[in-house]
Amino acid sequence: MKEVRVRFAPSPTGHLHVGGARTALFNWLFARHEGGRFILRIEDTDVERSSGELESGILDDLMWLGLAWDEGPDRGGAFGPYRQSERVALYRAGAERLVAEGRAYPCFCTDEELESKKEERRRANLPPQYDGTCRRLSGDERARRRAEGRAESVRFIVPPDSERRLDDLLRGEVVFPSGMVGDFVIMRSNGLPTYNFAAATDDAAMEITHVIRGEEHLSNTVRQIMIYEALGLEPPRFAHIPLILGLDRSKLSKRHGAPNVGDFHARGYPAEAIINYLAFLGWSPPGDREMLSLGELVEKFRLDRVSPSPSIFDEVKLNWFSSQYVKSLGARRYLDDALPHFPQDVKDAYPRERLAEIFEILAENLPSFSRIEEEIAPFRPGIPALAGDAREAVAGARELLSASLVSLGECEEWSAASLGGRIKELGTRLGVKGKALYMPLRAAVTGSLHGPDLSRVMEIRGKESVLRAIRSALAGAETP
Ligand code: GLU
Repeated sequence: MKEVRVRFAPSPTGHLHVGGARTALFNWLFARHEGGRFILRIEDTDVERSSGELESGILDDLMWLGLAWDEGPDRGGAFGPYRQSERVALYRAGAERLVAEGRAYPCFCTDEELESKKEERRRANLPPQYDGTCRRLSGDERARRRAEGRAESVRFIVPPDSERRLDDLLRGEVVFPSGMVGDFVIMRSNGLPTYNFAAATDDAAMEITHVIRGEEHLSNTVRQIMIYEALGLEPPRFAHIPLILGLDRSKLSKRHGAPNVGDFHARGYPAEAIINYLAFLGWSPPGDREMLSLGELVEKFRLDRVSPSPSIFDEVKLNWFSSQYVKSLGARRYLDDALPHFPQDVKDAYPRERLAEIFEILAENLPSFSRIEEEIAPFRPGIPALAGDAREAVAGARELLSASLVSLGECEEWSAASLGGRIKELGTRLGVKGKALYMPLRAAVTGSLHGPDLSRVMEIRGKESVLRAIRSALAGAETP
């Protein structure tokens, strides 16, 4: 059997978004599962919108996700170059050959002419395809137009019977009816190829065996199949993976939060969580295990388990994966990524070991690192501001708080265990328990009625800071 060769072919005209990353992942998993090769090709023929900076950003994001490629612009390979802007001579030669063989022709129509032809066809209720004017030009007429210095593109001749059937690996048979496409441009008048021509030429030259990409490319696929035919080559197998929609069921876009991989990276999501989440966008393994490592995904990934219906991008679910990973891989592993999200006063107040402990506690329940600032409140070294419920809880517990000041003040071994013991003992002595015991204390120490285990918080905060907070709460409680 032929070695499997798949490619991810981003255009460096924007950042790597969730949809692109999912396409890259499915290609990567397929290649690894099949023992094949994963190729990275940069489709940068839109010179105005492409940039080297965006290209490196995409490479960095893929590396961060752990999707390394076997051949690509930075590491070469036997089928290079892997940047389309460096392959232009190839497309030109290919287009010239197609013209020489009568499968393509130069087109001199201007944008205005094309626009008015389109308008005419629209009025006549005809599909808005090119009417073939330049296909019918004689040699003399072509020469005359050239002599006039008219800009010239190259159009591919769509065969008269243009019905095509595709055996899509996900969707089964897809029929493209005859007449669906008209003669299409393969080389623009600026000398650069169109996406369809460059992609098909490269897929052929790079011996790509499977094209796995978004369903929005279906209408390109029919054109690319025709190009393969004209080149006398067998097209690759195609798998069109489903769209990703936002929760409102519209196509995923910037409006739906931060669908860029780089944004998620910056917000402190573990790469493992993004990968695991993306794998489940349209695919599912047998069984109901959801947490799967990259290795397990490779082992289980099969295209026939990719659903053809759209998947919904749900940040709540991604957050779930994220907190599961931070917890299960061990929070300490992410400490350096998390620290930039810690407020400065916290970083100044504690040694690194303590910061690691704080992060471990927060990680029990932390959807993303951008929430650290909020969740870390109980550990802030200053005196908390008391408002609302917290203020009320404190106001109703003056006796308890005064007694706790004495008891905690006497505490020599400042550990969660002994603090827990003292709080219980206080409760027994004063005849209060449960919420009535813990709420006022928690409110006084942290300014909130909710948060992580109070004894642990007190241990980490330290004796001075805890006593200061309780004293201040008591003083505040005196003034109604
Ligand atoms: N450059 C195209 C894109 O980013 C690639 C599509 C394809 O995989 O052929 O959409």
